[in-house]
Amino acid sequence: MSQHRGPARREGGWVDLTAEILRGTADLSGANCVGSEALFDPKAHSEEFTDADYRHQAAVELCRTCPAVDACHQWSTTQPDVHAVIGGRRPALPGKPGRPRKASAA
Ligand code: SF4
Repeated sequence: MSQHRGPARREGGWVDLTAEILRGTADLSGANCVGSEALFDPKAHSEEFTDADYRHQAAVELCRTCPAVDACHQWSTTQPDVHAVIGGRRPALPGKPGRPRKASAA
């Protein structure tokens, strides 16, 4: 006795899913960040600003010699809210202490 489970549904599997996710992304073949992803990550909530700055500077140095930097930088400009280092661009660190405000003239 066969069991009927409704109309056959095509399951694309992980290859189709990966292709869908990567559609529209730049070709990053030979990227320098492979294996050093942690340098590029956004600042962790509990991480000191100076530590995140240090990591991000090291990431930017990798980007400078990356064979994919042009494509990566171009793609990064299409991303609205970037908190990681991408294409040599450093993210603004939310909540980073800035320069003190000028005293207002009285
Ligand atoms: S430019 Fe930087 S972020 Fe982009 S692929 Fe190269 S190393 Fe990675």
